[in-house]
Amino acid sequence: MAHRVTIIPGDGIGPEVATAARLVLDAAGAEIEWVERQAGSVALEQERSLLPDATLDGIRDTRVALKGPVTTPVGTGFRSVNVALRQELDLFAAVRPARTTPGVPTRHGGIDLVVIRENTEDLYKGIEFARGAPETSALRDELRELAGFEVREDAGVTVKPISVDGTRRIVRFAFEYARANARGKVTVGHKASIMRYSDGLFLQTARIESEDPLLRGDTGFEEIQIDHLSMRLARHPQDFDVLLLPNLYGDILSDLCAGLVGGLGLAAGANIGWEYAVFEPVHGSAPDIAGKGVANPIAMILSGAMMLRHLGEKGSASAVEAAVDTVLERGDVRTPDLGGSSSTMDVAEAIVGALGR
Ligand code: NAD
Repeated sequence: MAHRVTIIPGDGIGPEVATAARLVLDAAGAEIEWVERQAGSVALEQERSLLPDATLDGIRDTRVALKGPVTTPVGTGFRSVNVALRQELDLFAAVRPARTTPGVPTRHGGIDLVVIRENTEDLYKGIEFARGAPETSALRDELRELAGFEVREDAGVTVKPISVDGTRRIVRFAFEYARANARGKVTVGHKASIMRYSDGLFLQTARIESEDPLLRGDTGFEEIQIDHLSMRLARHPQDFDVLLLPNLYGDILSDLCAGLVGGLGLAAGANIGWEYAVFEPVHGSAPDIAGKGVANPIAMILSGAMMLRHLGEKGSASAVEAAVDTVLERGDVRTPDLGGSSSTMDVAEAIVGALGR
């Protein structure tokens, strides 16, 4: 029976890379029935909402989605569609692998790590108070009253909640992921010395959970301050295996790790919850190259391969990944971000050719 999957093309280069990914995934052997839903500017135009209920219901119905990037208009008061989607569907774990690929020249070789990012709490929770708003003034009064904190009158405020429950599930997810994928070590990144009650709690919860022998098995565990982790990633990224990070650090370091292995055009990702899973590239809608047919579709295609594996189609998933490696290693068909001059669809067609089916 075909797998029903919601496909959300998204904005900017989204529709281009979504078309390319469908071409490859349809050729990979697994049967997929695509159900198209909209999010982003097309949805705003057609359904008057950046994230229509029909799209959320569509994902709830199929349980699995492949999503292109969606533009977040800056400074307009719109909340990020991506953050809303992750919170609405409780997609609490972002999984973002970064692996050295044959034929892609990079500063460091031999990288094979996975960023596991908490996706629903931290500064991305969306608890914000605008400069000058009456609520902000009330918050300032409250903070002064509660503990003598003085916040400047012209300040905007974003709140950083991190909970034990929210952390426990991502820590357990990270160790389970490590064991299921034969990974040797989980490294937790934090800044507990400064943010004692948010990052401190994240770290403390990770320590406690890591002591559960059934969860941890023989997986290694280490903790490292986020600034030091950034330096070590720049110098010797091969030292790391699974990086377990709160939301903001996970967002930043997954782009850094994408850069270490060849850029955003190659970086795939998944957002996973207990009930639903949404697969999407790490990159955004790339307005600077949208509509030109030159976006690299590989990040979206590899996100699709992660989705196939999640659906139990391991053979097709491995075949797609191997075909991507073949095309990258050959090096004759590449988009401009990797130094080539091929189009998005040239790359997709070359990958289909390399599938050899
Ligand atoms: P971006 O990832 O869109 O682009 C950063 C740079 O990388 C640009 O130069 C772009 O051309 C390049 N790039 C990105 N993907 C590429 C690809 N597949 N092939 C070749 N080059 C690629 O980041 P940004 O410019 O900061 O964000 C643009 C918009 O996307 C913003 O509105 C942002 O909020 C949104 N965004 C969405 C998501 C998502 O939907 N998951 C993620 C990140 C950013």
